Amino acid sequence: MASAPTIELGSRFARELPELAVPWQGAPAPAPSLLALNAQLATELGLDPESLRSPEGLGLLLGTAVPQGASPVAQVYAGHQFGGYSPILGDGRALLLGELSDGQGGLLDLHLKGSGRTPLSRGGDGLAAVGPMLREYVISEAMHALGIPTTRALAVVATGRDVRREELLPGAVLARVAGSHLRVGSFQYARATGDLALLRRLVDHAIARHAPHAAGAEHPPLALLESVIAAQAGLVARWMLVGFVHGVMNTDNMTISGETIDYGPCAFMEGFDPATVFSSIDAQGRYAYGNQPAIAHWNLARLAETLLPLLADEQEEGIAIAMEALDAFPARYRDAWVAGMRAKLGLSAAVDDATVAEVADALVALLESERTDLTSAFRALGSAARGRPDAARDLFLHRDAFDAWAAGWLPLAPDADAMDRANPAYVPRNHLVEEALAAATDGDLDPFAQLVDVVTRPFDERPGLERYAAPSPERSFRAYRTFCGT
Ligand code: AMP
Ligand code: MG
Repeated sequence: MASAPTIELGSRFARELPELAVPWQGAPAPAPSLLALNAQLATELGLDPESLRSPEGLGLLLGTAVPQGASPVAQVYAGHQFGGYSPILGDGRALLLGELSDGQGGLLDLHLKGSGRTPLSRGGDGLAAVGPMLREYVISEAMHALGIPTTRALAVVATGRDVRREELLPGAVLARVAGSHLRVGSFQYARATGDLALLRRLVDHAIARHAPHAAGAEHPPLALLESVIAAQAGLVARWMLVGFVHGVMNTDNMTISGETIDYGPCAFMEGFDPATVFSSIDAQGRYAYGNQPAIAHWNLARLAETLLPLLADEQEEGIAIAMEALDAFPARYRDAWVAGMRAKLGLSAAVDDATVAEVADALVALLESERTDLTSAFRALGSAARGRPDAARDLFLHRDAFDAWAAGWLPLAPDADAMDRANPAYVPRNHLVEEALAAATDGDLDPFAQLVDVVTRPFDERPGLERYAAPSPERSFRAYRTFCGT
């Protein structure tokens, strides 16, 4: 039998920011069993996959067997949820086990979700069901494979305890890894305490972990703010380029590291429509696909507000400094989006930005007018660049409109091979995810394992996987809903 994992977990967050850390442990699980293990990630982290499969390993992944020297904590934060401010949120069903070395002088959080009630659970049960935890696993790993900054999934362990949702569901804990779990909401909480020394310590901690260059800047808090603005502009641009809809862009779900976090009612859009929303609780469409850049900007304004006392002695001056930094967001976002579109359209540096933007905007308008499947359309453009336009043309009702668009693009000499490295053949499509999760909930993990395999090599088109590349057979799947309280 494999031996207990050797793991060194730091507690820098708990030590430096005790006001934001409640010491806690995972709830015991009656019958733990491993549902998914990311052996490759474990190895990269210096963890022996076999030892993670041992009873002690499962204890680590459940937060019940705390390694020597570790001090797991529930993190405290605040946040705007759907625009309304909650002064105390925090890990109501999660735990920061501690920090691992990333092997390059930096730290990575090892974090659990679904690990039981904490002092921050409010009315919640502290638990998570198998389906949503496997969903976070497969979607976050797909995002990583697409080159999009994200928390990583290390493992999902079934607890053997049922969770009451609309029905009784099998429970599970997800172990995930991230640059950190600092959020805009962490800063909102620290600021609301009125303790400026705490806010300064949080800024220093965030700088050390995510913006080390800011430590030597003329104005470190401003340099941190600018770096978060840049990271989030780049992140949301990448989401938009693949049709990812996060679904709950509350300020407590927006990281300082610029990583995607908290996969709840998220999904990949199929037919292109800016109004696409998947969350059953987002009736107003606040977090619709097309709103995501504006919401990110709004959230960053909430971050900037928390930093005002550190930006200048006079509030007016602080506001002016914050506004200037925030005003850079739209251009930063647009630049990142155009750069991404350049890659997706296979255009070399010889084509100027304005031309790339014009061709990309025209294509988006066309996709939108026809509600074309975004992933299929971009992938098919690779063939069009090879002189075989039919696969792309056939996706459009108005083939002449596509031809007119292509007549402006093809003369720019797109590089088809480069396009195949930028446009995924496979994303975790909603109907495939649902199918895999339903099977897993009934005890059959094969479809889930197969889906993980497909979407973690998204650019590598393989014969026999055609159904993974196709949109949902039912048009009505556009009315797809995922549920919060996951
Ligand atoms: P989310 O938007 O899913 O990231 O969660 C928002 C807040 O609700 C966080 O503070 C979570 O810890 C908390 N929360 C979500 N689900 C539960 C649950 N089942 N039990 C306790 N707290 C929860
Ligand atoms: Mg959250």
